Amino acid sequence: MKKSDRYKRLTDIIDDPDRVRCDELLSHYTFTKTGGKADVLILPKTYEEVSAIVRFAGVNQLPVTVLGNGSNLIIRDGGIRGIVIHTMKLNAIRLQGSSIIAQCGAAIIDVSRFALRCHLTGLEFACGIPGSTGGALYMNAGAYGGETADVLSHAVVADRSGRLIELSRDQLEMGYRQSAISKHDYIALEGTFTLEKGEEEKIREQMDHLTHLRESKQPLEYPSCGSVFKRPPGHYAGKLIQDSGLQGTRIGGVEVSQKHAGFMVNVDHGTATDYIKLIHYVQKTVKEKSGVDLQTEVRIIGEDK
Ligand code: FAD
Repeated sequence: MKKSDRYKRLTDIIDDPDRVRCDELLSHYTFTKTGGKADVLILPKTYEEVSAIVRFAGVNQLPVTVLGNGSNLIIRDGGIRGIVIHTMKLNAIRLQGSSIIAQCGAAIIDVSRFALRCHLTGLEFACGIPGSTGGALYMNAGAYGGETADVLSHAVVADRSGRLIELSRDQLEMGYRQSAISKHDYIALEGTFTLEKGEEEKIREQMDHLTHLRESKQPLEYPSCGSVFKRPPGHYAGKLIQDSGLQGTRIGGVEVSQKHAGFMVNVDHGTATDYIKLIHYVQKTVKEKSGVDLQTEVRIIGEDK
């Protein structure tokens, strides 16, 4: 069967050609502005559509990759084979008592702002994390002493057969930049954040403070994927990179940030290949100079060109 015919049948599930996009360039969807094409990118609007896509993929033996806001991803320059589900249209946020229920495609920044408007405290740490709710659940995103696990009470996920499952806090197994969702390859559909009543002014002050810290320390003026490496036990990745004299090191169009050594910025039409080469170079140099192995926090997926 021809590739175009195979994916045409997806319009039986999603009757809207604008939400089934063949040969879609993924650099439009990543914060690093790199990445090749997806065979097909689909934008579901309901959980039932997600399940149906996953079942379709199972029957047709096609891989399925989930894309949130693309803020923690390097997609290789050859792109992604099979189906890419983009969650951006699953973006509802609602209040239930003192809990907020957010769908996977809602920006976690918007969820944090929604909490402020509802005078609920607990999500201030997330006010500058540029990912989706699904990405925050998957990675247990965190910043400035807070993390998703602190406030997440349960989640709805789909497994790779398309079955919808509700997971309790314990079943979510949240750890440092990981969760049951990443471990079992679930698709996160929604998260419930249980928060405390707070004072609007105090919540706003804390968010303004964290935004100021972020803007003064991070190179937000350039495309990047945030901190490239996880924090190695007993160390800070940025400090190790700085002490190894790597700030400003450039491969192709990608550079170790001068402002924050833990970031790599796309300064001049860099490619995913530039990013990956620079990551390997930094890992090798830091290992030689300090003996520490840096593990990537950013996820590197897809095929080489
Ligand atoms: P993506 O980049 O789209 O995907 C990341 C991984 O999650 C992929 O493996 C993807 O398959 C998976 N995924 C995404 N959505 C789902 C889903 N619904 N179901 C299953 N899997 C899914 N992170 C922090 O933790 N703290 C920070 O302070 C922080 N600061 C940042 C600052 C900048 C400037 C940038 C660019 C990034 C920063 N990050 C930070 C990294 C990033 O924002 C977080 O890791 C975020 O949680 C990723 O979410 P995303 O939607 O962008 O995920």
